[in-house]
Amino acid sequence: MNPLAQKDLQYVWHPFTQMQEWSQQEPLVITSGKGALLRDQHGKSYLDANASIWTNLHGHTHPRINRSIRRQLARISHSSALGLANEPASLLAEQLIKVANHPSLWPRSSSSLTNPKLRKVFFSDDGSTALETALKMAYEHAMRRGISKHPRFLSLDQAYHGDTVGAVSLGQVPLFHRAYDRLLFRTDKVMSPYCYRCPFNRAKAERGDARLHRRCQWECVQTVERTLEQAQSKGQAYAGWVVEPVVQGVAGMVVQPEGWLKRVGRLARQAGIPLIFDEVMTGFGRTGPMFASHGEGVQADFLCLAKGMSGGYLPMAATLVTDDIFRSFLGSYASGKTFYHGHSFTGNQLGAAASLESLRMLKDLHDLRWRKSLSKTLAEACDSLWGSPHVGDIRQTGTVVGVELVKNWKTKEAWGSNQRVGQRVCEAMALHGVLTRPIGDVIVLMPPYCCSPGQIRRMVRTLRRSLTQVLGS
Ligand SMILES: *Cc1c(COP(=O)(O)O)cnc(C)c1O
Repeated sequence: MNPLAQKDLQYVWHPFTQMQEWSQQEPLVITSGKGALLRDQHGKSYLDANASIWTNLHGHTHPRINRSIRRQLARISHSSALGLANEPASLLAEQLIKVANHPSLWPRSSSSLTNPKLRKVFFSDDGSTALETALKMAYEHAMRRGISKHPRFLSLDQAYHGDTVGAVSLGQVPLFHRAYDRLLFRTDKVMSPYCYRCPFNRAKAERGDARLHRRCQWECVQTVERTLEQAQSKGQAYAGWVVEPVVQGVAGMVVQPEGWLKRVGRLARQAGIPLIFDEVMTGFGRTGPMFASHGEGVQADFLCLAKGMSGGYLPMAATLVTDDIFRSFLGSYASGKTFYHGHSFTGNQLGAAASLESLRMLKDLHDLRWRKSLSKTLAEACDSLWGSPHVGDIRQTGTVVGVELVKNWKTKEAWGSNQRVGQRVCEAMALHGVLTRPIGDVIVLMPPYCCSPGQIRRMVRTLRRSLTQVLGS
């Protein structure tokens, strides 16, 4: 066995991994990467088909991001944001506020919503901490404003917002969260739209008998409305409503129907509940627009960003907030209104330098057009997957795809979780040189933006081939 693989087996505990099974084979040791390719200890190349778990935007070892990190490295890597400012963090905060409020990003049709402006940036290191920041701010804001003595949080069914205790409290992923149930604080859930398994049976049928499906009347939004009304009649006030806009990632790349976010956004505004948008996965062009919520014309009160923020190069995250939120924390030190929260690496210079360069690249018009054409190539390639009897649903927004595998596409019957179908398909794909990870039986494709059309088609072709190999035709 490769000596590096051996050291891994001896010393490293991997995230979300049953280590007893992990130790039964030689792990892939990634030794380098270039563009959309990763290389392992034996010199074999793989397509990075999930952008290194949804983080990488422009490809690996991109000359522009590498150069920006090197340039910053020559000056300083890190100095604290406690009591000190630094150049790249200040410049990045300015740019983030600019793109978050950019007027061209707001379609006219959104005028029925009064959208706040985002004014301040609080930096942290990853998605979970960006969410924790928003949670604590929102909670304190609600207390200060006398909204309630016990403000609670609302989040969506099947939500995932990270693995710290606050973020897990908001989530609803039984497999990950069950063990900590009694450790968590209580949150209220509202229905999220999962059209493929729509309980009102109103989803658009991609395949199967369309006559079985009646026209959608936004019953799911009505359900949300009723939940909010019930809470209001019980006097329940909310500090915030946490939503993954446009697509719920860990839920299985569950794409919300167009117009859903705008509708629930309106409900939240009517009820006076601050919106906390978790754009950790959807931010920075993943679904098309710079931020997914912009595409629906809804501005957050708290915008949480991480993963792709630094292009996926360094741990870097941010929570953008409105003036209204920020002002709740203003006063003298003696007033007790200080936000006592922060992390050692808040505002880290290397991460900020990488993020600035990534943003510059994203704002390029050429890049926007390229992402659009990439999304189209991906859609066209994925069309070929409908031919497989084991493909129940294909959900796509921008450059995010979830392919839900089922035992029987007519009845939508799922595989048993012990059969680990998604896992087995991904293992077969890896043997053919394409790396991704499943969410249960949903296969994720999320190519870095630097992928060529040929690489996109190869990803999908490999998925199709692996499906047949594992499940038969
Ligand atoms: C990944 C993810 C998180 C957690 O981010 P970490 O950087 O892993 O802490 C939170 N929310 C969403 C939507 C995510 O995809």
